[in-house]
Amino acid sequence: QAKAAGKNSIKQFDVSMQVKASERTRLESELREAINRQQLQLYYQGLHDAAGQLLGAEVLLRWFHPELGNVSPARFIPIAEESGLIFEIGSWVIEQACQQLSRWQAQQLVPGLKLSINISARQFHQDNFLPKVMHILDRYSVARDRLQFELTESILVSRVDEVISKMQALKQYGIAFALDDFGTGYSSLSYLKRLPLEQLKIDRSFVADILHDPNDAAIASTVIALSAALGLGVIAEGVETAAQRDALAALGCYHYQGFYFSRPVPGGDFVALHRHTVTH
Ligand code: C2E
Ligand code: MG
Ligand code: MG
Ligand code: MG
Repeated sequence: QAKAAGKNSIKQFDVSMQVKASERTRLESELREAINRQQLQLYYQGLHDAAGQLLGAEVLLRWFHPELGNVSPARFIPIAEESGLIFEIGSWVIEQACQQLSRWQAQQLVPGLKLSINISARQFHQDNFLPKVMHILDRYSVARDRLQFELTESILVSRVDEVISKMQALKQYGIAFALDDFGTGYSSLSYLKRLPLEQLKIDRSFVADILHDPNDAAIASTVIALSAALGLGVIAEGVETAAQRDALAALGCYHYQGFYFSRPVPGGDFVALHRHTVTH
């Protein structure tokens, strides 16, 4: 009986693995067409100080599929990375974001706004990443100090010296760097001081329960102390309530991103949403 049940559950496991694999294959081939079919769109979410004023915006990719609906980037970005589609998609994101920024500049909307763009490890590792970025910036005449790139700790798994010199080169052009989802990866602290970083982003998994889980509060507190010790800025992700903001402020973190402050919205709505909050 138990043996039969065991066998059965192995079979079911196989079947569900197959379903997952074929779903993945489907997503990959549909993602391949997504740019041409105009299913990709950029959303922008405000980055705020304690008074709610706007410091910048993070660029967040959205995929609206006619049948599957809104597919989460948490689901399709890993597929794009593994398949190599991230090169084309990643360039598209930088290009669209720069186009939006140059339009806002020309219309003198949200003046001085900085955009923070997520760059995947594989995309950053690509040989021609630097000239590609420079080409896009020139094309839209975007001031280089208007951009920040968000990298995750996974960038530090291999070829660290190469990563550091590439970051330094981009920094010389005026581009800033943040380390995203900080605390979820496995970066060695000795690398951290060698990276030309502007700020650490506290992952939202530590913010979610900060009021009730002492471990999460301790990790947030440690990241905040670490960034101060290294002379870096720090911003908390996923702030959904005033109480979370206050808890973070009590620990010394005064920059925030999250639904409590503002949600990600399309570029067209971003200006209307933030018309009265822009000062920086
Ligand atoms: P991330 O870079 O850590 O982005 C922050 C995520 O937190 C976004 O999820 C955002 O919508 C979400 N978020 C912001 N505030 C709140 C909040 O108060 N509560 C909750 N529950 N969530 C909040 P999103 O847009 O689904 O993106 C997920 C991840 O996908 C991003 O995490 C990033 O790693 C990746 N991603 C998104 N766009 C791009 C892109 O253009 N390129 C690359 N390489 N990755 C991207
Ligand atoms: Mg990010
Ligand atoms: Mg993040
Ligand atoms: Mg995160």
